[in-house]
Amino acid sequence: MDGQASRSIASHLRGAFGACRDALAHLPRLALDIALPTQCVSCHEPVDGEGVCAACWARLSFIERPYCPRLGIPFVYDPGPDMLSMEAIASPPAYQRARAAVRYDDVARSLVHALKYQDRTDLAPAMGRWMARAGSELLTGADMLVPVPLHWRRAWRRRYNQSGALARVIERQSGVKVRGDVLRRVRATEQQIGLSRAQRATNVQGAFQVSPDRQAEVQGRRVVLIDDVLTSGATLDACARALLRAKAAQVDVLVFARVVESGPRPI
Ligand SMILES: [Zn+2]
Repeated sequence: MDGQASRSIASHLRGAFGACRDALAHLPRLALDIALPTQCVSCHEPVDGEGVCAACWARLSFIERPYCPRLGIPFVYDPGPDMLSMEAIASPPAYQRARAAVRYDDVARSLVHALKYQDRTDLAPAMGRWMARAGSELLTGADMLVPVPLHWRRAWRRRYNQSGALARVIERQSGVKVRGDVLRRVRATEQQIGLSRAQRATNVQGAFQVSPDRQAEVQGRRVVLIDDVLTSGATLDACARALLRAKAAQVDVLVFARVVESGPRPI
């Protein structure tokens, strides 16, 4: 065998070996999927197909009217049309309206955590569909969906942006286009967990910016910001301010779950 032939066989073998290795890399995951039925992300009981079992699904607290027309906070009784919550009057956010699919309780938290930290992207279609339903009023006439961006370092560690995954489902449901490149996080921020309301606001102040070459696309447009959870609203408020600085006509907010403090009352 001459040198050229042996080199060619060697490269062939390397190619075949590489293909096997690639195939094997997927095998453990595949084997697990076959061996174990899917578990409910909340109670870990076996579940057929969807991410949550019927019992946990029934425990999800979908937000329905009556709610504050600005903040989407559910009211315990119907105060009549156009009545705002105390929160909306006392400290109005930069965004115009907020809507959420569900209250942020145990089951909602499991869904958010599984999507965010456990690569359960299979949950995004259901979560996004519920969001599109809750936000139908905001999506009518909206010009673009803008997911809250992660800092590139966190995005690199987590590999994907959960808000972007939800936004893409809502795009398919509503026809409103996702513009993931409009807003950027110009400063890495501390995790908001464990911070007070005031600390949260300071933490994210000036953390977001509309890319200078994207300002013309935002100007005069109606934007719907997309995120997984609304806690104090500080992050979404900072994003809305950045979009309004770039002369967006209006910014609304659509999240999967929102924290509802006990006993919100209309005034
Ligand atoms: Zn369950």
